[in-house]
Amino acid sequence: MYFLAHMGLAVLAMSILSLTFTYGIFGSLLADLIDKPLHFLGFAPSGRFIGHTLFASLVAFSFTYFATKDRKKSAALFVGYLSHFLADLCHSFLPLFYPFISYRFPVYPFGLRYTLFFFLTDLAGILIMVFIYFRNERFRAEVKGLMRRISGYFLVHFL
Ligand SMILES: [Zn+2]
Repeated sequence: MYFLAHMGLAVLAMSILSLTFTYGIFGSLLADLIDKPLHFLGFAPSGRFIGHTLFASLVAFSFTYFATKDRKKSAALFVGYLSHFLADLCHSFLPLFYPFISYRFPVYPFGLRYTLFFFLTDLAGILIMVFIYFRNERFRAEVKGLMRRISGYFLVHFL
């Protein structure tokens, strides 16, 4: 799956569980943010490697908890991370229990293949986010706060 589908699923999970959206969305993207560059640089046999493991999700959860001391934010990141696995389980290989169980990693050349399946799942992700944006006050507030912070950063650093 691609980013928008993962984000949509995370937003849905955060909405249902009343967790922090931004942390959940970041968690839902972390596995790919770790593994895709590793694969691109030639350090991973495919786009699903150490980032796509329960071990990595627990490390991310622990790191977030110790950095923020906030159970809701770290739980959001963890649930977002797990939602990534749920979406990725729909198709192809997933080394969930690596490095505790050895896997025969499939070797793929790096490539960005965007199929109709990816397009449809991304579209579903966008629709979920738009739907929840208009229905969930908390999501709207987090998106607006994030946009304010990003625009403030650019105003301060580039203008
Ligand atoms: Zn993935």
